[in-house]
Amino acid sequence: MSKEENNKTMEPQTKRWKGSECDLDSWVAYPVLSDEESQDVELTEAFAAPIVNKKETSRLLRELSSLYPMNGLQHIKRVRAVKEKPHPLEVLVCLVCDAPDMKVVTIESLLPSEGVRRDALGEPFLVKVPARPPLTRPQFELVSKHWPTSFHEDKQVTVALRGELFSPSQKARMHMYMTSALTVAKAAIELGMEPVGAVVVDPATERILAVGHDCRGDHPLHHAVMVCIDLVARSQGGGCYPVDRYPACRFTSPSSDTFQNGPGAEASSQPYICTGYNLYVTREPCVMCAMALVHSRIGRVFYGTASADGALGTKYRIHSQKDLNHHFEVYKGVLAKQCEDLKGLGNQRGSLQESR
Ligand SMILES: [Zn+2]
Repeated sequence: MSKEENNKTMEPQTKRWKGSECDLDSWVAYPVLSDEESQDVELTEAFAAPIVNKKETSRLLRELSSLYPMNGLQHIKRVRAVKEKPHPLEVLVCLVCDAPDMKVVTIESLLPSEGVRRDALGEPFLVKVPARPPLTRPQFELVSKHWPTSFHEDKQVTVALRGELFSPSQKARMHMYMTSALTVAKAAIELGMEPVGAVVVDPATERILAVGHDCRGDHPLHHAVMVCIDLVARSQGGGCYPVDRYPACRFTSPSSDTFQNGPGAEASSQPYICTGYNLYVTREPCVMCAMALVHSRIGRVFYGTASADGALGTKYRIHSQKDLNHHFEVYKGVLAKQCEDLKGLGNQRGSLQESR
């Protein structure tokens, strides 16, 4: 590749994207959250009862909380206001699992004759309450339909789930980085390898540090992400993959302006090579690549399209695995259509080669 071409694909050129708003509108990056944030909140059953004498509310609350403390469910509000019912307030008496065994549920069977003023309560009925606090606004809205719940909102997650986390200028940069990954993926197709490309960026300087494509024709484990991490290691004096004969796979040292494709010059021993860096990859990484990203301490991962065996959202969510010692944010959907189309290009190429 000539130096000029090199510049075209490697250098940030925000200007190029300024006139192409529609391009940026063609995709949305959504966060890939943890299982707990993505799954519906489990519900559990409880008995509630109308408060027939409003003046007794605070005393009832005190007495019920001491009789049935509902430990671990502090997120559930004990009293709710209801419209269009004869009694405007209802209170949670107890969880069904905490209630005494009984054939017919009455307020008398739920409450002992002493300790709680039964005459302030109407007949009990079943409700569903969330077994754990909601973590996202969609979860909160869903559980709130059953019973009022407190919610400590992470505003960034809420905005991200709406697909509005990134500003147009941020999106323009993301667009450009993923375009570089797409370009290098096409180089892999030409070589008859898997159509996957990856780019590592230092968000502090907005510079691309390494570009790599799938090289599993050489070695079954040389996936694009592995190649890219190895190239970052090369820029820091480490790295060992023999990808020098592929001109599209290249790196630059964080402090230099020139790209290299030869042995790394700066010898250093940085144990966590991708600390603070972002990865752009055309398709969702597999388990091995996702684990390599954990070990390299990647900052954020952006991918275009999901993979059937993907480990950052599809099969697993390794980036949010509690028992791992590093977690990172993952976003999917950057240039989704173009990344999805790569799979077809790879297949076409494959069948062409077979027919030769
Ligand atoms: Zn992989």
